[in-house]
Amino acid sequence: MDIDPQILNNVVLILTSLGVAFIAALWLSIVFWVIRDIRSRTRDPLMGVMSVLLVIVLPIFGIVIYLIVRPAQTIEHKYQAALEEEALLQDIGLRLKCPGCGRPIEADWVACPACHTRIKKMCVSCGKTLELQWNLCPYCGSPQQKVYKPEKSRES
Ligand SMILES: [Zn+2]
Ligand SMILES: [Zn+2]
Repeated sequence: MDIDPQILNNVVLILTSLGVAFIAALWLSIVFWVIRDIRSRTRDPLMGVMSVLLVIVLPIFGIVIYLIVRPAQTIEHKYQAALEEEALLQDIGLRLKCPGCGRPIEADWVACPACHTRIKKMCVSCGKTLELQWNLCPYCGSPQQKVYKPEKSRES
């Protein structure tokens, strides 16, 4: 059977332009994707420009290279990680320390088991732990005697 070479030519031309259009669209969307992606990963403008140029100049290999060298974490991710780390540090900072020896103590201890420093006192009426300087129990309202920290026992 005979195919008119003119028609064949037209078909090839149409297929080729469709293919080119498809590749161009794909390439464009990759470029836009990279622009969006790099923006969420770094605020360094040079890095952004380099990444976009890379995919523009090397449409297929560029994206592979980009995926390998791009920053692993998004900015949001880094921010979250920094927040968590800060919270952790704060937690450690908030750990109570014995004023006498610096060892960690619990909030409801009345004395340090290591150096015997008085940390808190107990309410004479309800037995809750109170700050040494409080002279009234906030829980039951009973007046308290002031307890002074036994400073280094030195006879003056
Ligand atoms: Zn202590
Ligand atoms: Zn009390």
